Amino acid sequence: SPSQGYYTRRGGVGESGDFITSPEISQVFGELIGIWYISEWMAMGKPNSFQLVELGPGRGTLTDDILRVFKQLSSVLSKCDVSVHLVEVSPKLSEIQAVMLTGGKVQPNLEDKSAYMKGISKTGIPICWYRDIQDVPPGYSFYLAHEFFDALPIHKFQRTEKGWREVLVDIDPEVPDQLRFVLSPSRTPATQNFIQPEETRDHVEVCPEAGVIVQRLACRIEKDGGAALVADYGHDGTKTDTFRGFRNHKLHDVLSAPGTADLTADVDFSYLRKMAQGRTATLGPIKQREFLKNMGIDLRLQMLLQNSGDTATREQLLHSYDMLMNPEKMGDCFNFFALLPHHRLVHPDKKDKAESKSPLPPVAGFNELLLK
Ligand code: SAH
Repeated sequence: SPSQGYYTRRGGVGESGDFITSPEISQVFGELIGIWYISEWMAMGKPNSFQLVELGPGRGTLTDDILRVFKQLSSVLSKCDVSVHLVEVSPKLSEIQAVMLTGGKVQPNLEDKSAYMKGISKTGIPICWYRDIQDVPPGYSFYLAHEFFDALPIHKFQRTEKGWREVLVDIDPEVPDQLRFVLSPSRTPATQNFIQPEETRDHVEVCPEAGVIVQRLACRIEKDGGAALVADYGHDGTKTDTFRGFRNHKLHDVLSAPGTADLTADVDFSYLRKMAQGRTATLGPIKQREFLKNMGIDLRLQMLLQNSGDTATREQLLHSYDMLMNPEKMGDCFNFFALLPHHRLVHPDKKDKAESKSPLPPVAGFNELLLK
């Protein structure tokens, strides 16, 4: 809802908000993702420009950490024209992002209807803000969606003796201020359109908006090149009831005080893969701890520990490493998933003279990082 929705009204990412995310826990998370983009840019032949497009940037911390890596590796990127494009619906969060990334030096953009705000990052890179991925100009792009797809609305379905029924929200007739879940008395348009014929589960959650966005990303990557990295908690088409709410870092009844709590559902990566419709190759989902290990998190931690003099900083570094990597914390339930052009994984004319071709470099994160 543009007036009463959680992200347009509250959107509390961070320690003082409703939920905490990996970039808010440790700078290393964003740094390794920045390295992922540079490694893919190199593997794809160092094109002379690219757009970094982030969906749902939260407080802007992840992009800030990535841009710091781009700055540190500016000798590598020196001949490349980089721009940043943020897709954000929340007015409050876009202001926080503007302060984080530009120091507040932004202008509302009235001439160009697609981007609603423009600025220059602290490191000198142009940044534009949009409400919809379709407004982002076409071009070679690296996309990022971290804890974005889980925030989009879902449909819930239940298999019954009479076939699939949709779980709907109704007002409790006994208590007028209270909402309750009910089953649709018959099939609904959503039960007819969103359940896969081969579905074996009895309870299913589907996020059609995520499907549409992945289709758009896949079309854009197929046409203009680039890659997308999606990181979120989720499963590969196995889980059933994951819809839940968070307020002040505690579980919150999804039906009580709508618009005041973060509502979330696990991302179904098997659905995202299906919605790429073969336009791009897909990699993953791979567990966060495996992805970050492949990206060299252990080495980075050792370097930061060596360079930090005081015990409090060292303890903080070890604590945040544990949060990201421990299988019982974020290490196992968060996953990484990528969309890449087919030619990034297989030589287009593989069958002819494959032996004369140099092998394609492995995709970092999903394999060990090899930066030459
Ligand atoms: N990526 C950030 C924040 C995740 S919270 C991090 O990891 O810290 C989800 C983000 O998606 C918020 O910035 C929220 O405002 C944004 N968002 C939610 N729904 C959206 C939509 N439909 N379109 C664009 N952005 C949306």
